[in-house]
Amino acid sequence: MSDCITALEYEGGIVAVDSGMVQPLTAACYLLETDDALALIEVGNNASAERILKIIRSRGRSPDEVSHIIVTHVHLDHAGGAGELMARLPNAQFVVHPYGARHMIDPSRLEASARHVYGDTAFDAMYGTLRPIAVERVITMEEGDSLAVGGRPLVFMDSPGHARHHFCIWDEQTRGWFAGDTFGLSYRDLDTPNGPFIFPTTTPTQFNPQVLIASIDRMMEKSPENMYLTHFGRVQGVPQMASRLKTAIRFFVELAETYANEENRTEAIEAGMMDWLLAGTRKHGVTLSEQQVRERVHHDVVLNTQGIEFWLDHRG
Ligand SMILES: [Zn+2]
Repeated sequence: MSDCITALEYEGGIVAVDSGMVQPLTAACYLLETDDALALIEVGNNASAERILKIIRSRGRSPDEVSHIIVTHVHLDHAGGAGELMARLPNAQFVVHPYGARHMIDPSRLEASARHVYGDTAFDAMYGTLRPIAVERVITMEEGDSLAVGGRPLVFMDSPGHARHHFCIWDEQTRGWFAGDTFGLSYRDLDTPNGPFIFPTTTPTQFNPQVLIASIDRMMEKSPENMYLTHFGRVQGVPQMASRLKTAIRFFVELAETYANEENRTEAIEAGMMDWLLAGTRKHGVTLSEQQVRERVHHDVVLNTQGIEFWLDHRG
């Protein structure tokens, strides 16, 4: 039932639809509404397709109006349901970073590497079967390219650091970036009078801290007023968010280097990151119990640690 699906509506025809993955309000799919067309930015998993279609219909629009499905990168919490959704939206073109396209056309390698990260049981429960997308429906966007949804221009920026196949999408109308995972994670249940709490996502296998900070700096050159995060929703007060985020990235690097040669490296980095998040949320004024904060961020701590360890093992 569509009234059970949370969707946060923002100015400028932008709606963050809860993809339903992992926990409530954890991964968003954005619906961009213009008079003449609709676009989706991020698609969640296969089960998210039905939720997205319900929200489109509940807003008095038709799935046939969707002209573009865009994913910021091909990690499966962003792009796992792309093939399924494309099959149900016959008029849509699929828009992806040039380095990500082949993994959407033939998702077998993507599936294998995700099974490696998540394990088979979790993968099957969360993603099921990835459907390929026909090559003739795929378009790629390079640095500086733009496309129009209805008459509304979107401009693409290559934004490596979280993943090499990641772009961010600039919406001039609201002076906002659809940031994917480049601008970190910020959950609405950690909001306080001090604003949103924000921290990086460093999931495997292409996290690179210096490159990520450079991408954040490039995003800031536009003086953005809004950041539309996949995890989760819009944040404002962007300059302050950017500086908190960069501080956190530098702390994660420090943490990695402190424990790089530790025998129990994984446990040590996870514990250090969790302690930092508990202290940080407390200082930020978050009133959830320690246990609630742990549950909120546990999934991220595990994946972030995997990504940091991969970076430690493969950096030059
Ligand atoms: Zn993500």
